Parts: sequence; structure tokens; C-alpha cells
Amino acid sequence: MAPEVRPSGAALPPAAAHGSVQDEAWMRQALEEARAAAAHGDVPVGAVLVAPDGAVLGRGRNRREQRADPTAHAELEAMRAAAGALGGWRLDGTTLVVTLEPCAMCAGAIVQARVARLVFGADDPKAGAVTSLWDLVRDPRLAHRVEVRRGVLVDECAAVLRSFFDHRRAP
Ligand code: ZN
Repeated sequence: MAPEVRPSGAALPPAAAHGSVQDEAWMRQALEEARAAAAHGDVPVGAVLVAPDGAVLGRGRNRREQRADPTAHAELEAMRAAAGALGGWRLDGTTLVVTLEPCAMCAGAIVQARVARLVFGADDPKAGAVTSLWDLVRDPRLAHRVEVRRGVLVDECAAVLRSFFDHRRAP
């Protein structure tokens, strides 16, 4: 199968033809990152960035509190780690797997990095920029658009967040 040619002229690596079982396995790794975030007092969101061949290139978790950094979201951490490992900013053909629907900042970065595919767990009705409030990654005006799969292990992803906030509210 010939690689898809996009308007930019860049050849896209073969689309990640990974099934739902594989997405769930990666989401379990993202959930481990989310739980680790909760352990240092950060809202539990975790992410992994996966190469076209299925290798995990980068991991990230929310570290806003830990690093006193408003941009230290799980997705950005995972993309930074992957770009560092690859030695380049282009993440063509990769899949980003994250426990929560990305915000506008992260959705923008996903497009900038040319991530091919986004898999997320829970919706974020207050800040989500993929289905809830906006759809920044599939805007037809952009040259690069991202394939999206939503709701993977949604119950587990939502439960991690719920238990964090329940615990914080407890006296
Ligand atoms: Zn974000």
C-alpha cells in the first residue's frame, strides 16, 4: 500500500493499524502514569506516545504542581520525551494515548508535532479541545489533521480522576 501523500507533500508512514486491544494495553500504561501523578498531588492524567511500530517512545504525566509549571501536562511531557529520544520535533506516524481528552494547549501541540493518531479515555467537558468544547485536531482548515479514537477504558480513566477529587474533598 502506497503511503498517503498529504497536502504538504510529506509522506505519511503507514497508518497505525493497531486494534482496540493494543490501544487498551497502551492506555493501561497511561493509567499507570496517571496514578503516579496523583501520588505527588497532581491531577491524575497520564500519557504515552507510541511509534508506528508500536514501541513506546515517551511517557508523561501531569506535573503542574510538582514543577510549578502551567504547561507540564501529560501529553506535552510525553511528546517532549519522544522528540528528545528521536532527536527531532516531528512525530509523524505516532499515536498519542492519554487518559483524558486533551486541552487546547495540548491539542495545538499534537497538531504542531504532526501526531497521526490520538486515543483518549475520559471526556473533559470543562476544557476538552477534541470533542467537548472544540475540535482543534480535526479542523478542516488545518493542513494536518489527527485521527481520533475516544472512550478507550473510559471507566478506569474517569475513576482515577474521581477518586482523586473525592479524596481531596474528604475532610
Ligand atoms: Zn493539556
